Amino acid sequence: MRPFGGRLLFLLAGLAACSPDRPVNLQPTPANGDILRLIEEIGFRGPVAIVTATPIEDGHRRATKRSLMVPPAQRDAFGAALRAHPAAAARLTLALQQADEITDPNQIDSLNNTRRDSLQVLVAPSILNRPASAGGPVENLVQFSLEFLDIDPNGNIFFVPGGDIDSLLLMARIHSAGHYHDGSSLLEDTLPRRVGRFDPRTGSFTTSFQTTWHVPEFSQEINHTIRLTERGGPNDGQTRFFFNVFPYASRVTGLHRIPPGGATYVRTGGTTEHPEDFNDWAVQPLIDAIVSFATAYNQARGDVVRVNDLSLFFGGRFDVGRASTVNGVTVLTPCHEGDLQSCWGNANGHQEHRLGTEADLNLTTNTLLNRAGFYRLLLSHFQSVYPEGNHWHVRDAASIYNPPR
Ligand SMILES: [Zn+2]
Ligand SMILES: [Zn+2]
Repeated sequence: MRPFGGRLLFLLAGLAACSPDRPVNLQPTPANGDILRLIEEIGFRGPVAIVTATPIEDGHRRATKRSLMVPPAQRDAFGAALRAHPAAAARLTLALQQADEITDPNQIDSLNNTRRDSLQVLVAPSILNRPASAGGPVENLVQFSLEFLDIDPNGNIFFVPGGDIDSLLLMARIHSAGHYHDGSSLLEDTLPRRVGRFDPRTGSFTTSFQTTWHVPEFSQEINHTIRLTERGGPNDGQTRFFFNVFPYASRVTGLHRIPPGGATYVRTGGTTEHPEDFNDWAVQPLIDAIVSFATAYNQARGDVVRVNDLSLFFGGRFDVGRASTVNGVTVLTPCHEGDLQSCWGNANGHQEHRLGTEADLNLTTNTLLNRAGFYRLLLSHFQSVYPEGNHWHVRDAASIYNPPR
């Protein structure tokens, strides 16, 4: 092996020597030049980070989106500048290619969850438990390229020629996507298991800084911050802090809420952590199958189906089992990255229920005849059926968790 290894090393060294140095491009990305002019037009005079984001979902590159970040103290001024110049603001929105939101917005709690027009970059959550029969685990990524604008001492906007990224931080928007966990803890809001991670998180750059967001398994809205120290240019050595203008979202698109049932089924299963309004969302074929199953079961047995958890409204990992009740008081398990069982990664609860293709169903009146009728009808309405605790876990034909046929 030794001679071969030596040759391999030689070859690799040769490749490294032959590969051209990465071109040092002191010119900003052309489209970002347009953004500079539009920011001049709306009259905003403050530092801006231009984020060019390219999602890579299941290995496929998706359309690149741009978004802006400004210092937290200047968000109001930026909003006011946009409102004061609607024509330029509209062109700026166009230049940013703002994402379309296609999740059914009906019944989403507008107080605690973002409106459809205010999300920026959208990406599907990673599915690290995707079975081999469905292609194996998938980690979704978003490649970021960051360029920065600042104002020189004469009040002119310029592209920052280079600098040091001192920190990049991802933060969950509290209570977003139906995760009503303890939102008051910075530790929990920034947990890599929950929000994913940037790689790299720091570094020096010329013209633009490249980094990759490793998207989490959890769906939620995510904010991010950047701390930059400028190197070269009129503001050499000065530090800037940026916050995104709109949140990003990691989520599954196109889920619908199963309608209130009435005579044949009821929606149940809401908890303090994942309230009822958010826990019964699914793809339409699964909703149709549940409704028709409930009608058939009700006609056969005169009993009512209890529809427990489906998926959260943005899908993603559905981490039940976080709360326990002690002396009548609901207590959340304390959270840290090392606690894989109970903190944003419960190994026991809802390994599936991520893509709107699985549901937990139960009967109301537990008799032997009802159970027999319930089970027989489940088999004729769903692709696969498993007993799970005191209920049945069923899968739509589209579920990636169905056993291979
Ligand atoms: Zn949760
Ligand atoms: Zn289940």
